[in-house]
Amino acid sequence: MKILVALKQVPDTETKIKVAADGKSLDPADVKWITSPYDEYALEEAIRLKEGKGAEVVALSVGSDASKDVLKNALALGADSAVLLKGEGQGDPYAVAQVIAAYAKDKGFDLILCGNKGLGGDNAAMGPMLAELLGVAQANVIVKLELGDGTFKAEREIEGGSEIVEGALPAVITAQKGLNEPRYASLKGIMAAKKKTIEELDAAAVTTAAQVSALALPPERPAGRLLQGDAAQQAQALLQALKDEAKVF
Ligand SMILES: Cc1cc2nc3c(=O)[nH]c(=O)nc-3n(C[C@H](O)[C@H](O)[C@H](O)COP(=O)(O)OP(=O)(O)OC[C@H]3O[C@@H](n4cnc5c(N)ncnc54)[C@H](O)[C@@H]3O)c2cc1C
Repeated sequence: MKILVALKQVPDTETKIKVAADGKSLDPADVKWITSPYDEYALEEAIRLKEGKGAEVVALSVGSDASKDVLKNALALGADSAVLLKGEGQGDPYAVAQVIAAYAKDKGFDLILCGNKGLGGDNAAMGPMLAELLGVAQANVIVKLELGDGTFKAEREIEGGSEIVEGALPAVITAQKGLNEPRYASLKGIMAAKKKTIEELDAAAVTTAAQVSALALPPERPAGRLLQGDAAQQAQALLQALKDEAKVF
């Protein structure tokens, strides 16, 4: 079995985001990059399948050199090889799907695992688009996955319940929190990863269906105010503020 895992590098949630001078992209200065958390579930599932059934796991990222850290981490966790499809600038999920489809179409992958959405961009679109471009089955927002002989059975979260989806491999599956508990890299894994190389290929030329025209941070929140006096006075001041300023009553 051959498994491809799509991993996206995203800013660490603790990074203080700044909008770049062009007003439509992130300023990469001082950003700490991490693997998108949903992609960690996808990678963990691939490694578990490798351990359980035997599989070759290929980690892939589309982006600049900065994405290499995500791939090194995947190698340390147990991916057999890693590919960076290099291209500068931003594309929408459709562009990423085209780039990955162009790479994967003749490689014989039985399973392509993605996060259900990339943290920050939150489009939740790349996996379904990739499945369509490759003409294969898909199951999205998956919390449980079982593979049979050339088939898959997946449990997906839906509003107020769950749904079981079955289909034939090859398939694209997008991972949701709860699918598994991602492991940490072991020292042995980190040392073994140092010996593995990352294949670097140019991303296929693609078209974007949509482009970001503006990016803005939420408005600054006004500073908090400390109410003075004893508890009764504070309660009175709070009531007054809710009435006069917040106009809650
Ligand atoms: C040529 C090119 C260069 C790019 N360079 C960069 C870059 O340097 N830095 C950057 O942050 N983005 C880069 N992008 C990616 C792009 O900006 C976003 O990843 C894209 O808009 C998807 O957004 P999303 O995470 O909201 O998608 P979603 O649809 O929410 O993503 C769902 C899943 O798709 C997979 N996925 C999404 N994006 C990628 C990716 N780039 N690589 C591998 N898997 C992915 C992940 O498994 C993710 O969980 C590039 C795109 C192209 C086409």
